[in-house]
Amino acid sequence: KDTDSNDIFKSLNGAQSRAVSSAAPTVAILAGPGSGKTHTLTSRVVWLIDHVGIRPCDVIVATFTVKASNEMKTRIGQALGDGREKKIVIGTFHSIARRYLARYGQHIGLDPKFGIADDSDSTALIKRICKRLNYTHLQPPLVRGWISKRKAKGTSDEQSTTAKNDKSVASQEMEQCFQEYQEYLQRSNLLDYDDLLVRCVELLRNYPDCVQNIQTVLIDEYQDTNGIQYDLMKLFAQANRRITIVGDPDQSIYGWRSAEIRNLHRLLRDFPGTDEVSLEENYRSSSSILDASLKVIQQDEDRYKKALLPIHEKCTRPVFRKLKSSTVEADWIVSEIKRIKLASGDMVKSDDIAILLRSAALSRHIESALGREGIPYKMVGGFKFFERAEIKTLLDYLRVIYQPDNNDALARILNTPKRGIGDVTAKSLLEEADGNRMSLWELLGKHCRGERTAKTNIRKAVEPKINRSLIGLITHFQSRLKPSEGTPVILVDIIEELLRALQFEKHLEETYGPEYELRWANIQEFMNLVAEFVNQDKLEEDMLPIIEGAEQGSDDDVLARFLANVTLATEKQTDKDKGKPQVTVSTIHAAKGLEWPVVFIPAVYQGSIPHIRSDDKNEERRLLYVAMTRAQALLYLSCPLYTATGKGEEVRISPFIEDLPSSTFLKKGPSLDRPVMSQVAKILRRDLPPDSVIYKNMPMMEAVEDNLFPIDPNQKEPPPNSHGYGQRPGQYKRQKIQHA
Ligand code: ATP
Ligand code: MG
Repeated sequence: KDTDSNDIFKSLNGAQSRAVSSAAPTVAILAGPGSGKTHTLTSRVVWLIDHVGIRPCDVIVATFTVKASNEMKTRIGQALGDGREKKIVIGTFHSIARRYLARYGQHIGLDPKFGIADDSDSTALIKRICKRLNYTHLQPPLVRGWISKRKAKGTSDEQSTTAKNDKSVASQEMEQCFQEYQEYLQRSNLLDYDDLLVRCVELLRNYPDCVQNIQTVLIDEYQDTNGIQYDLMKLFAQANRRITIVGDPDQSIYGWRSAEIRNLHRLLRDFPGTDEVSLEENYRSSSSILDASLKVIQQDEDRYKKALLPIHEKCTRPVFRKLKSSTVEADWIVSEIKRIKLASGDMVKSDDIAILLRSAALSRHIESALGREGIPYKMVGGFKFFERAEIKTLLDYLRVIYQPDNNDALARILNTPKRGIGDVTAKSLLEEADGNRMSLWELLGKHCRGERTAKTNIRKAVEPKINRSLIGLITHFQSRLKPSEGTPVILVDIIEELLRALQFEKHLEETYGPEYELRWANIQEFMNLVAEFVNQDKLEEDMLPIIEGAEQGSDDDVLARFLANVTLATEKQTDKDKGKPQVTVSTIHAAKGLEWPVVFIPAVYQGSIPHIRSDDKNEERRLLYVAMTRAQALLYLSCPLYTATGKGEEVRISPFIEDLPSSTFLKKGPSLDRPVMSQVAKILRRDLPPDSVIYKNMPMMEAVEDNLFPIDPNQKEPPPNSHGYGQRPGQYKRQKIQHA
């Protein structure tokens, strides 16, 4: 298949080619952003399959976001060209672990019908535990973090003992919460995110047969693996010890998940003879963008230094712009987007543009500005489509149907739709169940059978309702999900039936009034998603091998896989405008590894980047570096004069920007004239449409804005009102900007 392999090498430089075809068992590529690490990794997968002849199902590829793993699969698929990529075990560490546990978890005493507790489930549970133990001084998110850190350390880690030896009162209390927490999860057959990894490690240690077939393991974004993921990586590869990792220490941004740069040293120690390859050319960004980004990261003096040279020429400098408020900032971004699209004669489309945010909380202004101007956009990363109330309720029903012992889910749906159970009753039922170490489902059953338990009374009138419209309903749908005599389970139909049984539309109308249509539209959207999932799922089933003579778990439960998929997903496109180009609005974390021609980074101020709740300044700097290095041709940073936190405090520009030479940034949007747009086109390897009237006289929106919103330090505006920021309607007149 020589022609194929030649094709692979055509798009690679010397160092990349060497890494792709390296015969060393372990290959490590450490290099800066945009140097083609991911490109090299996917090419190596193709090489191993096509040239070396490794079977796709014997390859594991792990990445950090669902989006990145999908993208990789697509790229590999394009190169292989025959659909074999579907057999590769490719995904996030969590999703791969889940699949192994669903298939083989019985070996380690795991009930294959386990559910997954997401972050909010975990935190809610810890809150209840703290309350019961009277540890009201402990903050549940902190306890959650502590527990997570303890689990994430990994077992072979030298530091894991320090936690146990710590005898301080606080840590003993945490320890007690941890015990209760773990006991509860076990009782309810739930695994939290960390457990997925911990249990998978346990599985693979004790039953290496599960991964006996694995020939090679490849990891992207290696800098963000933590101790337990490192263990997992080694275990995946235990049959052959063939590992390829790519990463960049400057882009390590998951310290709060205990990602450890130490893992790089561990790898070199554990796998002597590793072939280390460095890539030194940046193929992504204009040299102006790269220059500014490097200036930011070079402020960190302790970093692991490596070369990174631009292959693209200069383009217009990045912009740093201070705007009057978050609202004005969002408006400015949208006006720049329109200007860029016009100036490029539509060479730059909406899907070439990303707005990257430090925290999801900042998205409101951006969303409403985009919405107002009718620019289609999608939200990626941490924006929690699945946590919208109506979606969560529906998911909770599905969770309870799948696993009635899921107390939290059951407690949330007790009175949704309304069944006459007050919040107080619901809460005390839950506490009673917890206290008796039984599930809420069992407790309700007892009540309805008239076996009164000690404490909580459900009003007599309500009992039949619970009996019929909750217990009866759940039981009915449980049986609907059991495939009987060859009739396939059609998930979409069943969920539709469920919605009817619950009179869900009516429930939404009663709860939300006129707003209900939007909520109902979300439900429709959710149904599309289910349908899409089921289609995709059919293709991916049965990728893990059957081990001879071993008991197999039943991973044939489509609802189980769907719920896991939802819980582990990092994105949900709210795409009513599917198919149309859309601007991406993403958290910086979820943008890792991706690139766009145009990138906006709003809210670059002290308290946002670095974030007020972060105590690791270097990590925050790396985060900004990751965000900036996503941009190919145009990069815009900005911040408002006042914080968007509602307190309306005056902001200080991010210290990561403050000390840079003032020549690093333009103070306002660049003039997007013909020469600039030609440079942009060159970097993007695209053709700029022939000259037309729109290029000749691009209005500079900045000028208009400066008149509207004078940014004069002496002329201070009163801080915005306590609801936030922005302007009261009518306070200023929005001037429509004319383009042509
Ligand atoms: P990050 O650290 O941000 O994840 P990366 O090192 O993984 O970046 P890639 O995403 O693989 O970089 O590559 C960046 C861009 O450069 C991609 O558009 C890729 O197609 C392109 N690229 C990589 N190698 C080459 C090459 N040899 N010739 C031309 N383009 C290349
Ligand atoms: Mg990459």
